[in-house]
Amino acid sequence: MKALKIKEVLEINTISKFCAVQGWVRTFRANRFVALNDGSTLDNLQCVIDFKSIDESLLKEINTGAALRLEGTLVESQGGGQKIELQVEKIVLLGVSDPEKYPIQPKKHSLEFLREKAHLRVRTSTFSAVMRVRSALSFAVHEFFQQEGFFHVHTPIVTGSDAEGAGEMFRVSTLDPKNPPLTKTGDIDYKSDFFGKETNLTVSGQLEAEAYAMGLGEVYTFGPTFRAENSNTTRHLAEFWMIEPEMAFYDLNDNMNLAEKFITTVLKKVVSRCKKDLTFLDERYTKEENSKPLIERSPMGLLEKINFVVGNEFKRVSYSEAYEILRNSKPNKKKKFQFPINEWGVDLQSEHERFLVEKHFNCPVILFDYPADIKAFYMRRNDDNKTVRAMDILFPGIGEIVGGSQREERLEVLEKRIKEMEIDKEELWWYLDLRRFGSVPHSGFGLGFERLVQFTTGMNNIRDVIPFPRTPQNAAF
Ligand code: ATP
Ligand code: MN
Repeated sequence: MKALKIKEVLEINTISKFCAVQGWVRTFRANRFVALNDGSTLDNLQCVIDFKSIDESLLKEINTGAALRLEGTLVESQGGGQKIELQVEKIVLLGVSDPEKYPIQPKKHSLEFLREKAHLRVRTSTFSAVMRVRSALSFAVHEFFQQEGFFHVHTPIVTGSDAEGAGEMFRVSTLDPKNPPLTKTGDIDYKSDFFGKETNLTVSGQLEAEAYAMGLGEVYTFGPTFRAENSNTTRHLAEFWMIEPEMAFYDLNDNMNLAEKFITTVLKKVVSRCKKDLTFLDERYTKEENSKPLIERSPMGLLEKINFVVGNEFKRVSYSEAYEILRNSKPNKKKKFQFPINEWGVDLQSEHERFLVEKHFNCPVILFDYPADIKAFYMRRNDDNKTVRAMDILFPGIGEIVGGSQREERLEVLEKRIKEMEIDKEELWWYLDLRRFGSVPHSGFGLGFERLVQFTTGMNNIRDVIPFPRTPQNAAF
């Protein structure tokens, strides 16, 4: 007999049906009640072992963490808490578990403790809920772009260009680190490396996506991205997943409209599809917030926060306006910012972004038209010759969730900028070709997938929304 998923069993909810289920024991009480979970849903199935002929030695093996196949009849539940339960008639022990050694005990564990047990933490309610929501978000991302007529392109993971400019890179090499071949001048001779040149893991698929937008029109990438930045924050990973749409014929306004529609559509879909998990995570979030000092608490619950973002327009503010707001703000005047705001052109730090989003506007904010000198070479220059058509989307509790821009489509302007920023023009020959042959206005953005999962699940640390996080000094598992 093919086993049913527990989710199906609880949904069909049919008394006196005979069925089989398979899963892991969450708890075993009074030598009778097994709470079985198979990951298909947050809920456990209560299974009652109540028959005479049961083998005592088998009963001893029913421990937290063990894997079982149970066959029996669905009956109306005698106890509270669930409508139906399984009256067990047959037990197959699939995998034993030593209750003394199994780290995931039926009690509350700290997230830090569970990070050390990343291979087992998905067997907890919190992590299984987070990972189901993550999966639903990923599906909704593809669904959104496919419905909008975008094409999914796979850009390379190994890149030969170091002009992407978004962060420090990880080198990819097959040279012997103990004995690398050297050039006459004593430098490492990458000509004899695997690709015949220095190569790295990509920090962004944007430049390649631009090439494809210039032929397919509207495209997106959704792949792994690597940054060797030594920042131990709750928002940075060394390996993360990024969604990067790139669109021909879009100006910055079209770009902002798309980003806003994208985020709200994906959130709406997941709110309607992951009700049970999000309700559970909402309660978890509220408990955690309530353990914080009053002034640090979020004024809204998790679902409330998501619905607020979905139901309200993002506030669009130029850098210059934001600069004035920050310059005249209380924390700036009282010298409370670590980085004071006193000169137009300064880069905004996360303390400033948080002030704008969480204190001043109290909603998601799109900042646009940044000073050229703090942004990448490929962003389109405005007529004021000081600012570029960049936009960042800032979210409460997360900070930057999207970074994007209209791209510079004019060959001469782009070449001038590359020279000013002392970037190797030879490397970018193919990127410049895109401006030589049929160049058009175009735009795109990058959204860090884990930051979206963080916002949706209310998990404070980015290490808790990806199965096996990669951070400085940590690549276990
Ligand atoms: P931040 O200032 O937060 O480091 P960034 O300006 O370096 O971000 P971009 O280069 O614009 O970010 O990348 C696009 C998006 O990718 C960001 O908006 C963010 O959502 C995400 N992102 C960037 N770096 C990381 C990282 N190390 N880990 C996880 N997500 C990241
Ligand atoms: Mn960064």
